[in-house]
Amino acid sequence: MHSVFASLLLFASLLVFVLEVLIPVPVASIIIRNKMSERISLPNYNQESGLAKWVALPKVELHCHLEGTLRFSTILQEAKRHKIQLPSNDEAELRKYFLVEEKVDSLAKFLQIVDRQLIIVQDFQTIVRMAREAVIDRCMDGIKVVELRYSPTGLQSAMKSSKIAVTLAEIHDAVQSGINEGAKLCQADGVPIYVGLLCTGILAKGQTDMNNTAEFLLANRGDFIGFDVAGAEEKLLDYKDIFDRVHEAGIKITIHAGELRTPQSVANIRDAIKSLHASRIGHGVNAIRDPEVYQLVKDSSTHLELCPISNVRTNAVDDIKTHPIKKYLDDSFNISISSDDPAAMDITLSYQYGVLHRTFNFGLPDFFRMNRDALSVSFIPMHLKKPLLEQYFSIEAERRFSAKHEESGQWAAA
Ligand SMILES: [Zn+2]
Repeated sequence: MHSVFASLLLFASLLVFVLEVLIPVPVASIIIRNKMSERISLPNYNQESGLAKWVALPKVELHCHLEGTLRFSTILQEAKRHKIQLPSNDEAELRKYFLVEEKVDSLAKFLQIVDRQLIIVQDFQTIVRMAREAVIDRCMDGIKVVELRYSPTGLQSAMKSSKIAVTLAEIHDAVQSGINEGAKLCQADGVPIYVGLLCTGILAKGQTDMNNTAEFLLANRGDFIGFDVAGAEEKLLDYKDIFDRVHEAGIKITIHAGELRTPQSVANIRDAIKSLHASRIGHGVNAIRDPEVYQLVKDSSTHLELCPISNVRTNAVDDIKTHPIKKYLDDSFNISISSDDPAAMDITLSYQYGVLHRTFNFGLPDFFRMNRDALSVSFIPMHLKKPLLEQYFSIEAERRFSAKHEESGQWAAA
């Protein structure tokens, strides 16, 4: 008996060795698949009928803040791990506290709520997790190229408030580790996603902070594909020397502008294009308020990274029906669709496609056109664009996609 048992044990050990060492890829793939399914908890995923077809549509997302991708479940789990006292034990109350699921009065109020989430950023493990899940969630939403942006000094401030002194380099390493982990998991699961990283300066943090951010970007330029300026809008021209320096270093620039209904916000669009080297504008939704600025955006073919649901939630527009995206599209503007802070609003990019389809009757040709425009203005390396265009976004790829989905009835059924 003893020798039979020993033989079985030896056989079992050999089997494990063969599975794990000699054919590591399939085993690893199974493990990853299991881990992935545990991690997938896209909000509204099953609540929205017909959402699957929008997920199936290949997408490019240019405007997504890493800090706005924190899953609600992750916020709760990380708060528990760090023994953080939350303002309530009631989940509905906590959703109201941490998420912007309804329209609020102003962008300032919106940012105040989203910033509350950063209380959970108390160690590098949380940052790695946030970045990893950000990539996985975008990938599971059918996004093929995403430009994620984050503020190094913003995450540093979040950790400082937890009395943890860390360098920008350490934070950046954690962000990159998470992104790499996420991208590898997606790749291994047969759903590749290309992730580019933008460095964000926050205007409200002042000149010194903006300077530090720009210096960090310049010192680590190989890790970033571009520079972004975000936060409550101020007079952008006051920061011209920073934009000049970044531009002279050959770094591409996108600027949040025209996100408010104020004359200064609209003027910021003009200044961003004419004086601050922006090749893209984050939002630009209120360009429509000034005929000269409107014409400037159109004539210069400046790309607008439009985030319609975010614009409703921040009160940049009255409601989705009055959003100018349809007018911009009809008027041949260079535009695309992004989510901005998806998890913080409990939306996905695919969910937003469905909303735009129902509101404006956008169809496949409209979405493919906007995604082609997004890819062409993306800051990702040029040599990657051609294969991505051919595989997912070209006219031929659009024809293949239409034929497949019309044949299967998926498109018609929606
Ligand atoms: Zn934004």
